[in-house]
Amino acid sequence: MGKIILTGDRPTGRLHVGHYVGSLRRRVELQNSGEYDKIYIMIADAQALTDNADNPEKVRQNIIEVALDYLSCGLDPSKSTLFIQSQVPQLCELTTYYMNLVTVSRLQRNPTVKSEIQMRNFEASIPVGFFTYPISQASDITAFQATTVPAGEDQMPMVEQTREIVHKFNSVYGETLTMPQILLPDNQACMRLPGIDGKAKMSKSLGNCIYLSDEPEEVRKKIMSMYTDPDHIRVQDPGKIEGNTVFTYLDAFCKPEHFERYWPEYANLDELKAHYQRGGLGDVKVKKFLNNVLQEELEPIRQRRKELQKDIPAIYEILKEGSAKAREVAAQTLHDVRDAMKINYF
Ligand code: ATP
Ligand code: MG
Repeated sequence: MGKIILTGDRPTGRLHVGHYVGSLRRRVELQNSGEYDKIYIMIADAQALTDNADNPEKVRQNIIEVALDYLSCGLDPSKSTLFIQSQVPQLCELTTYYMNLVTVSRLQRNPTVKSEIQMRNFEASIPVGFFTYPISQASDITAFQATTVPAGEDQMPMVEQTREIVHKFNSVYGETLTMPQILLPDNQACMRLPGIDGKAKMSKSLGNCIYLSDEPEEVRKKIMSMYTDPDHIRVQDPGKIEGNTVFTYLDAFCKPEHFERYWPEYANLDELKAHYQRGGLGDVKVKKFLNNVLQEELEPIRQRRKELQKDIPAIYEILKEGSAKAREVAAQTLHDVRDAMKINYF
């Protein structure tokens, strides 16, 4: 069988540059490489509702925001199937069956879920749906027989959990599901891009994001307020690169040609880093350079978004067609799963 991609995002906000370097940029490259037989990109509204149950309007509105971000980054509906999770009810049925193959203590050990529970102050009031979302994610991945899941580092425990479910299912009921693999960014800085505050990862829920659709002035302001090295007070002081958000972003976005265009004094990032570490280079100069680099990357995305925004019904049409295709594929897998479990009675 060929190579199949399944990945997606929660419609809890517009997409940010963390999504872009962690997964989105890669998806577009893979889509255009022609190496994959099928690419499914899911807007995970049902998953978003697991911790936004009281705010369906937020989820609803962000479906269109995420779809606009997808298309403006270059996902192409003629090559990739874009769909809405809740429009594929087969995924829920798969989840029900997979739940029998996972223990509560196994879910409790999932480090990403653990830290997300902390971040949301859920403590004793964790919605059951939120607690079990890794199982629902296993349904999303396996329903499309995905071989490859391009995602950021936070998704490693999810894909691991899916792999365990696949293994368990296939050994109990016979070979039915495809074993997926995570495809992490090849650049360390992109695995888990920090927020502009330098804390935790950039995350819609933390308000520390540069959004793909931010206006140039907003992007500039955010970069200027970015966390750097708190001990780098005077220009002549030596600066630290590790944990310095501006340099992490440069690691994620900067190419040698950016130096040619915006800062020919340096040949590459290593030279710039060495100067910063020696001392004699101020944060503002580095931030201005990062601003040039990021604006260059974001400008075409912003422009395409403005064009696409003019015809929202066309966006819904793309999602409707994609969801219909996704339903067909998931229904086939569900049929096979029921066969394997011997519960297709009639
Ligand atoms: P939420 O706060 O609602 O969970 P989020 O910002 O964490 O939103 P998700 O929709 O959970 O975004 O993540 C979608 C994809 O983007 C995943 O593949 C995830 O690994 C990747 N991703 C999200 N944030 C980052 C980041 N800061 N760096 C790298 N990858 C990221
Ligand atoms: Mg998340």
